Amino acid sequence: MRHNIVAGNWKMNKNAGETAKLLSDILNQLPSGKEVEVLVAPSFVNLSQAIHMLEHTNIGVAAQNMHQAEGGAFTGEISADMLTSIGVQNVILGHSERRQYFKETDALLANKVDTALKHEMRVIFCIGEELKDRQNKQHFNVVDNQLRDGLFHLGANAWVNIVLAYEPVWAIGTGETATPEQAQEMHQFIRETIRHKYGESTAENVSILYGGSVKPDNAKEIFSKTDVDGGLIGGAALKAEDFVAIVDAF
Ligand code: PEP
Repeated sequence: MRHNIVAGNWKMNKNAGETAKLLSDILNQLPSGKEVEVLVAPSFVNLSQAIHMLEHTNIGVAAQNMHQAEGGAFTGEISADMLTSIGVQNVILGHSERRQYFKETDALLANKVDTALKHEMRVIFCIGEELKDRQNKQHFNVVDNQLRDGLFHLGANAWVNIVLAYEPVWAIGTGETATPEQAQEMHQFIRETIRHKYGESTAENVSILYGGSVKPDNAKEIFSKTDVDGGLIGGAALKAEDFVAIVDAF
């Protein structure tokens, strides 16, 4: 069901002690009574600790990535079963850093999505254009292709476990944010594309998050847009006060 979500992607930041400190600061400062689901995505090695510390709280835990195979000879990789066996029910797939630095393609990501869903995980699937795409007015095409190639093989029922994150690559970690109007325009396009393929109910029930330099001072305006259901937060998720202020923007 469509609802508000703020998810913090910690990337390759925070060691074990720092993870514990950030989690306890967030727990201490998080306002209650907000209509927003809060998720954090620490590194793989700190997921167990996060699951343990956040047990009986209303903050959920997500992995930042996952391998597509069930298991086997894939040195250094992490499977869906390993994640769910420690209580991780959410996974971020298709982040632009995975696409860019680790050459993850739409076809590979479609595979990862299938594996995650098979293990009853919820997928936060990232899509978004690069600066050159927007300059060449190709941004709608790029996002359309990422949606189709990564997710449109799914049946409508599978979409209850899909959350989308629109993250224009040029806005990630750059301090440059899409304007609220640019975010709304793309989110509306994404919902419309899903409506064409799957119908009204699937389109209206999917949560679409915006990601790209969301900060305490711009979150409220971005989140106020009709088709924006929250944010995937990078840099600002690493400071408890900023992350909590972003949650508080709802
Ligand atoms: C991200 O990496 O998903 C992200 C949105 O990062 P930042 O908020 O730092 O732009």
